[in-house]
Amino acid sequence: MSQEYDNWGPATRAIRVGHERTHEREHGEPIFPTSSFTFDSAAEAAACFAGEVPGNIYSRFTNPTVRIFEQRLAAMEGGESCVATASGMAAILATSLGLLKSGDHIVSSRSIFGTTTVLFEKYLTRFGITTTFVPQTDIMCWERGIRPNTRMLFVETPSNPLTELVDIEMLSNLAKAYDCLLVVDNCFCTPALQQPLALGADLVIHSATKYLDGQGRCIGGAVVGDAKLVGEEVYGVLRTAGPSLSPFNAWVFLKGLETLNLRMQAHSRNATELAKWLESQPAIKQVYFPGLESHPQYALAKKQQSGPGGIVSFTVKGGQEAAWKVMDSAKMLSITANLGDTKTTLTHPATTTHGRLSPEQRSEAGISDGLVRIAVGLEDIEDIKSDLTHGLARL
Ligand SMILES: *Cc1c(COP(=O)(O)O)cnc(C)c1O
Repeated sequence: MSQEYDNWGPATRAIRVGHERTHEREHGEPIFPTSSFTFDSAAEAAACFAGEVPGNIYSRFTNPTVRIFEQRLAAMEGGESCVATASGMAAILATSLGLLKSGDHIVSSRSIFGTTTVLFEKYLTRFGITTTFVPQTDIMCWERGIRPNTRMLFVETPSNPLTELVDIEMLSNLAKAYDCLLVVDNCFCTPALQQPLALGADLVIHSATKYLDGQGRCIGGAVVGDAKLVGEEVYGVLRTAGPSLSPFNAWVFLKGLETLNLRMQAHSRNATELAKWLESQPAIKQVYFPGLESHPQYALAKKQQSGPGGIVSFTVKGGQEAAWKVMDSAKMLSITANLGDTKTTLTHPATTTHGRLSPEQRSEAGISDGLVRIAVGLEDIEDIKSDLTHGLARL
């Protein structure tokens, strides 16, 4: 399907797509805080409800502000269709409900967001959908995990918090060979650094809460893909089950998109400098960051991403006590679970984001007690380093 923005570059799309001015001729995108929309006649209402004429009915289904965000993100990811959701988890749930049925099987990376693991293992199994978890980086393991009833391959690349990658193109070839859908959670890179659909993925998931917002304000999510899978199947779940995005949150996110390219470059720059510095610290055992030459998939990161992103993880010698000491000694950096904020955030995955996994699952996923995740923000890099020095010097 050709669009007016087909010839626009990525920065222009992020700033211009989706807004059709109303009769007020506003320059900024308007927020439509309305639950429902009106009709000139009963007949028009009936035609609209029957789907015979297009038009807004009710904000659980469509809302003009939400639609601007959806069209803009779809254009940035290079997808036909986008459905915005109330959270990133709602995006994964709506995708699962829309595209899977009882008896179906998922092959998922074992290195995915902790809550997604719980959704697959605890909740989807109740409805007859099972999941096999495989090591992210080994394509052979993905292939061995596939069964006759496998319908979906699910991955985040880079993964949280160890920044493991998968070759999206290779995985999409595997998905096609076995007639499965490839779903990529593009949270860490965003379309500014990586476009999974162009590499062969079928659907892209977002937690808009993270970099799309970029300033830690709102919860939201999105699914991007083609008109059938996303525009019909996932959208059908959304309008029926109801985890819709509020127009206010959509407006915050679409303003976030306008600066996404610039911010992702700046996050990548700060993170690269911090990762190199951390690698030189004697108290640190290992640094995980796709922009380091020591990263086992450095070459793949160079090929598949246009930047390394802003997430750096590291392990300290001395386990949980040492990890907590580094975090507690920081005076400026925030201890919080969110990522993708202008403010640098520190997380201890083993006791927070991955705390609901069993110790076996954690160790399989490589989440050790000495691991700290830094979502590098946009403060001056020297101030970030100096705040980490307080704790590192005490180890
Ligand atoms: C945060 C996150 C999610 C879930 O998003 P919410 O907006 O918190 O529901 C899913 N995937 C990844 C990679 C995340 O970081």
